[in-house]
Amino acid sequence: MLKRVFSGFRPTGKQHIGNYLGAIQNCISLQDEYDCIYCVVDIHALTTLESTERLQGDVYEMVLDWLAAGIDPQKNILFVQSHVPQVMELHTLFSMVTPLSWLLRVPTFKEKVKAQPHNVNYGLVGYPVLMTADIALYKGEIVPVGEDQLPHLELAREIVRRFNSIYGFVFPEPQAKLTSFPLIPGLDGVQKMSKSYNNYIEMAAPPEEIMERVMTAFTDPARQYRSDQGHPDMCNIFRLHKFFTPTRVEEIDSECRHAGIGCVDCKKMLAQSISLTFEPFREKRAILASKPNYITGILAEGASRAEAIAKETIKEVKDKMRLLKRGKV
Ligand code: SF4
Repeated sequence: MLKRVFSGFRPTGKQHIGNYLGAIQNCISLQDEYDCIYCVVDIHALTTLESTERLQGDVYEMVLDWLAAGIDPQKNILFVQSHVPQVMELHTLFSMVTPLSWLLRVPTFKEKVKAQPHNVNYGLVGYPVLMTADIALYKGEIVPVGEDQLPHLELAREIVRRFNSIYGFVFPEPQAKLTSFPLIPGLDGVQKMSKSYNNYIEMAAPPEEIMERVMTAFTDPARQYRSDQGHPDMCNIFRLHKFFTPTRVEEIDSECRHAGIGCVDCKKMLAQSISLTFEPFREKRAILASKPNYITGILAEGASRAEAIAKETIKEVKDKMRLLKRGKV
């Protein structure tokens, strides 16, 4: 029996190359070693969204990118959180064993209160409870997390531990699989790559767009003229070369330091490398995009498989909690 991995991802639409190098590659590498459940957490997204106008499209485009990149629906369960309503049920039941004080001290809750003071909704404070329900509903044993997410997972472990101690054992305590998600620099050279900062390159971008975006990127700020010697360690183009042009990194490093290569040529080389890397992806994506029923079918199948597990868990939970069964005395 393979151990079960659970991972949830907020729907963010078309994925950028930072998403690929961070989350997507990691999911692909796990799918041969574990029983993986990958979930698009659209309910979580509602805690911060001002409008749901783009939500459906964002879910669809993200799943399309994932499938085209190599997430295999035969090996994994891939589904949308709201398609399996039992998670809301477990969230409510877990909320009865979770002291409010645990939730109010969560640092991300405090950050969100600052970030959206006009919309401090109940969902924000209950976010870790819903996250725990996501994992526990499928009896997830392993959760891939970055170091910054460890406190959230610890809270999930505390909640299931409390449930188990009050009502009897149902849930394994999920273990962290510490994953070092590489920090992908954005084109602005300041922030990490993110849609919020408009400093990204989409995985699906055509070669012309990749070239255009790369050409706008900041480089070594101390290199003003072509004849200036560069400092590749200060340059985000160089950092991206490490991922996309690994075989020429030493050469670029040396050429840059001796002004043997100019930034324009260096950027052109990077744009070509990125474009080549994602060429098979773009082709597969175009084929999948022409079959929208295929994507919705994959998600429906994933939801059915997830729901079968969820129903079993909810039955077990209600039995342990001694809730009266419908139609029984
Ligand atoms: S030559 Fe390349 S690595 Fe050097 S500063 Fe210019 S863009 Fe950066």
